[in-house]
Amino acid sequence: MYNKKSMKAEEFIDHEEVLRTLDYAEKNKNNLELIEKILDKARPVRNGKQVHCNGLSHEDASVLMACEDKDVLSKIYKLAEEIKEAFYGDRIVIFAPLYLSNYCVNGCVYCPYHYKNKHIPRKKLTQEEVKAEVIALQDMGHKRLAIESGEDPINNPIEYILECIKTIYSIKHKNGAIRRVNVNIAATTVENYRLLKEAGIGTYILFQETYNKESYERLHPTGPKHNYAYHTEAMDRAMEGGIDDVGLGVLFGLETYKYEFTALLMHAEHLEAVHGVGPHTISVPRVKKADDINPNEFDNGIDDETFAKIVALTRIAVPYTGIIISTRESQQLREKVLKLGVSQVSGASRTSVGGYTEKERPTDTEQFDVSDQRTLDEVVNWLIKQGYIPSFCTACYREGRTGDRFMSLCKTGQIQNCCHPNALITLKEFLMDYASEDTRKIGKELIEKEIHKVDNEKVKAKLTEILKEIEEGQRDFRF
Ligand code: SAM
Repeated sequence: MYNKKSMKAEEFIDHEEVLRTLDYAEKNKNNLELIEKILDKARPVRNGKQVHCNGLSHEDASVLMACEDKDVLSKIYKLAEEIKEAFYGDRIVIFAPLYLSNYCVNGCVYCPYHYKNKHIPRKKLTQEEVKAEVIALQDMGHKRLAIESGEDPINNPIEYILECIKTIYSIKHKNGAIRRVNVNIAATTVENYRLLKEAGIGTYILFQETYNKESYERLHPTGPKHNYAYHTEAMDRAMEGGIDDVGLGVLFGLETYKYEFTALLMHAEHLEAVHGVGPHTISVPRVKKADDINPNEFDNGIDDETFAKIVALTRIAVPYTGIIISTRESQQLREKVLKLGVSQVSGASRTSVGGYTEKERPTDTEQFDVSDQRTLDEVVNWLIKQGYIPSFCTACYREGRTGDRFMSLCKTGQIQNCCHPNALITLKEFLMDYASEDTRKIGKELIEKEIHKVDNEKVKAKLTEILKEIEEGQRDFRF
């Protein structure tokens, strides 16, 4: 029986409820009167300077997903852009993944790390190697990392992950620093989540891969990850362990996207109902080619149009949740979905263990083929030219603005007084320390233009002062 407050995976992601919702959506996909009502529910409500959005239930959002009407689709895109603008402005947060180890005991059929794959060299970074990778990332200008690892209790136990986090935070190379480490490792125990929290992590990210239990068990035939309930209930354990920023995601291509989208929103509703705070981020990866993996073997691949629709409807349904897109996707598609709702992108990623210290991009141990292979400077330059403000900000979690505190700031619109100046501050640092001449020039012009948009005079004065101090060589300011 469906119960969003239940702590049992099969009840908060109740298969029958997903099917019922999909059936309802199919029956109403041409009900334009209902569709207009749903769009109205989701529109931003303005009260003076405050903007508020209600989001959408999984049922309402699924009706919009089922609708194929072209006019409705343009309305969906327009609304997604409006919501994106209201809460995220032009800021795009940048991060990079850091692969620690590809040792893995699982048998996930879509992942090159699966234990039966004998032709990828297995590698685990030593602390010296972690240090070298982090210096390489700092030298590009990165401030936020997402660490990634296969699941292997002998080779990559929690102690190893904790040691790596400690090493990463300890390195201060030139003006560089990693100020936020997000963690994408396999589902674990409450006790281990507590240890990750104590180690000062930002978001705990875990992709569900697929919410369909039957498919999940088939796609994860062996290893600890086979356990659907343990995997699906991981975010509840993470929150019990004190981590209040969690990141959801589906690996699109494994199951039908409509099933995944409905269930993903049910998961978000569950977290909100039980913990009072929804997911901090949602990632939208698609299955890609990798060693031993042919994405065409999975029946449910989605085209770019459908992908864009998923991003837009996610933006509308969960307006306060960040949306992350990785370098799995091309520059062209990234451009399209940035407008529709994406708020975080990875840049200059290398998805092989030890990849950042290699001169040439190594491909032998890549987790997936990287489509967008530009340098970080090129990504920053591109974002500025597209009208965005690239941000390396890590202020919220360092100021304790996490979980419901972050959400309530976001919901009252006050986050604008922090995020916008913090984006400019961290961009200024990047321009001073790492940018090419052209990026520095266009970045400087952007900052000058953006300062004038700060309408709180006190904030504007402080920001102007900070930017001057950065120019003089000081670093690491925040609102
Ligand atoms: N081992 C952990 C786990 O199982 O959750 C950590 C995550 S794994 C290193 C990172 C993610 O890469 C997986 O959750 C999966 O969604 C994604 N991935 C695996 N194989 C992929 C492929 N062939 N194409 C695209 N993404 C893939």
